[in-house]
Amino acid sequence: MAHRCKSLNFLKTSMSRILAIIPAAGCGSRMNSCVPKQYLKFGQNTMLELTAGKLARVLGPERVFIGVSAGDAYVNELDLKNMHVLRTGGATRAETVANTLEAAMHYGAVSANDLVLVHDAARPLVEEADIEKLIAESKKQIAAGTASGCVLAIAVVDTVKRTDEQGYLSEDIDRKGLYRIATPQCFRAGELAQALSENPDVTDESSAIRLSGGRVAVVDCDPANIKVTQPADADFVRERLLKESHMQMRVGYGYDSHRLESGRKFILGGVEIEHSLGLAGHSDADALLHAITDALLGAANCGNIGILFPDNDPAFKGADSKVLLKKAWDAVAQKGWRIANIDCVVIAQKPKLNPHVPAMARTIASILNIDPEQVSVKPKTNEKLGFEGKEEGISTRAVVLLTKSC
Ligand code: MG
Repeated sequence: MAHRCKSLNFLKTSMSRILAIIPAAGCGSRMNSCVPKQYLKFGQNTMLELTAGKLARVLGPERVFIGVSAGDAYVNELDLKNMHVLRTGGATRAETVANTLEAAMHYGAVSANDLVLVHDAARPLVEEADIEKLIAESKKQIAAGTASGCVLAIAVVDTVKRTDEQGYLSEDIDRKGLYRIATPQCFRAGELAQALSENPDVTDESSAIRLSGGRVAVVDCDPANIKVTQPADADFVRERLLKESHMQMRVGYGYDSHRLESGRKFILGGVEIEHSLGLAGHSDADALLHAITDALLGAANCGNIGILFPDNDPAFKGADSKVLLKKAWDAVAQKGWRIANIDCVVIAQKPKLNPHVPAMARTIASILNIDPEQVSVKPKTNEKLGFEGKEEGISTRAVVLLTKSC
């Protein structure tokens, strides 16, 4: 079977133990479609590919588990990269979630205290920023002991009324505090598994958690995070995807150089490298992180590293450039930008840098919360020419591409 738990060894050693479960075993009878609604096509992709892709971009594809029915004839045709497709579909959504969670726990992909995000296959418009907000708030609430987890939700803005059995308005309902509950919903794996076993008939995970005595917090999300249920919803998704396909793009370019001196550490791309000489500077002199910082700031027109972190400010003496990069990225991300990729060149006659490239890419990616695959670092010597070639210093260049929906 395709996509079946290919990379569980990675999951066992993963630092960040957050898993996503997508129950996708329903038939979507209200869509008037001959294929289950998760397999409806939007352009080149099915709804399930779009939905799962959102979670995969936040958590990594190997952390996404999709529960389909035993007889599913469509899923093997999809491009789900390293996501895991399990034939764990049950008679209800709750049963599919419980079965998929149990299988993920059985494989060692998740343990009781790890976080699990459960997300409807039919919500392809969820914003990645909302998923990140949900995870951050869930971690905060769980650590503080104030809630068992959180759900994405949309405050009700319409006037709400109840009708009687004949269809006449019979009761005005105060909309204050009313929410439409969406997904993902985020809880600890063990608590969720227990709650679902105690309450198998619920329509969402937060109901199970609450019926088992837990408290659930609400995290506001983009109202476009609808559940595709009626044919008109599919039209809404198509229009929105068309809009999303019109991306703003910005390129940024950064350059830096630092002198080589004895008695200093050689820190590059956030990685300390053994060398007889080190890089001189006011901060830790990480010329690669400085070039990336400037490229990011430049692309978003947020100034430059010298303005944000002046080299005559004692606050930045010996500063960790990883912290400076994170601060600069926070300012850029605040404007809604996301990183498509970063490509860098380091010119240094010595030391040999290629063995350190994977560690640099991992470090840079973790600071910026992106995949290491989006970061390229290419070391070059300068054929003994210029200050780099004479080992008086090194220089770096970085290009970044930022994207944002219009
Ligand atoms: Mg510098």
